[in-house]
Amino acid sequence: MTRTWVEGAAGSMFDLDNLPYGVFTRGGEEPRVGVRIGELVLDVAPVAAAEMLDVHHVFEESSLNPLMAEGRQVRESLRRWLTGLLSDETERDLVEPHLVPLDDVELLLPVEVADYVDFYASLEHATNVGRIFRPEAEALLPNWRHLPVGYHGRAGTVVASGTDVVRPCGQRKPPDADAPTYGPSARLDIESELGFVVGTPSRLGARVPTTGFADHVFGVLGLNDWSARDIQAWEYVPLGPFLGKSFATSVSQWVTPLEALDAAWVDLPGQDPEPLGYLTEGSPRGLDIDIEVELNGEVVSRPSYASMYWSPAQMLAHLTVNGASLRTGDLFASGTVSGPERDQRGSFLEISWGGQEPFGDGHTFLQDGDTVTLRYTAPGTGGGRISLGDVTGTILPARP
Ligand code: CA
Repeated sequence: MTRTWVEGAAGSMFDLDNLPYGVFTRGGEEPRVGVRIGELVLDVAPVAAAEMLDVHHVFEESSLNPLMAEGRQVRESLRRWLTGLLSDETERDLVEPHLVPLDDVELLLPVEVADYVDFYASLEHATNVGRIFRPEAEALLPNWRHLPVGYHGRAGTVVASGTDVVRPCGQRKPPDADAPTYGPSARLDIESELGFVVGTPSRLGARVPTTGFADHVFGVLGLNDWSARDIQAWEYVPLGPFLGKSFATSVSQWVTPLEALDAAWVDLPGQDPEPLGYLTEGSPRGLDIDIEVELNGEVVSRPSYASMYWSPAQMLAHLTVNGASLRTGDLFASGTVSGPERDQRGSFLEISWGGQEPFGDGHTFLQDGDTVTLRYTAPGTGGGRISLGDVTGTILPARP
């Protein structure tokens, strides 16, 4: 692999084979686009201007949307340009003054989220939730193996990692109660997920095939779909998740471009029955991404994305099969990543089995002051591993 001249970056999880994009501000300056290398952020705009790049203006923006809208070819050529800048010694004098220590910047929400869709693509998660929410019925509903089930979420409450989460209030009705009551959620939870962000839009009326994934999706982020299980359990029939989910969704501050995941594609675990033709063109694949769920500094679970039933390309194809168009900044998430073992489950609902089986220091659901951090790693194209960044958040008391 080409070697970087940036000190401390070679062999780290933020080496040349990663190069994620984010939006940063420093000392009250206007936000702009940065690229992470090692423990530094490259302030791209002045370098791109000095080198008279056609698209230099996209780095002066306060979100990645204009950059993402440039499309796949620009994304790929920028990656080659950045790799050259950070590996070629002759570029060092130009570039080095624009490398800023991470500690000196504030990282912001990287994407102006357009529409937000959340899927439900883990067989183990869907089965576990079915068993916990509907113990007397079939765990999986009849549609689940035929289409990637999803719902439209709330784009305006997607927040950057590090944002505190206020415990939501709402209606809760335990199964044995006669009537609902209003108050703070007593069953606040996480969902460890992966998010995919769209760069290139599509036309209204035209579907995006599974083979069009890399043409439309810019990159990947870590995502925590905070969930109030008591609010959710009472409200979700028959139209699906609503206020139990919409109060906050946290995403990583870095967006990992698709090309950094070239070595992470793996075959799906297997689909039975074979899905309809529009979901199988080009034999869509899954991603080998490992997640660590950390509660107050202790790892409580290690979900593996490779176990997911539905491919992200199938999610995108299904999302658009009716002709619904994509916009730059659209975000779709995988749904909770859960594996078959207890220590691979991606939500506290599942780890504690509906609150019946406390884990760790006696936890079931989230308490005020708890901090949850999701960490994501994947095989890099250089033979080591890359980090997709962290997603962290701390629970603040309710404001009834
Ligand atoms: Ca979810």
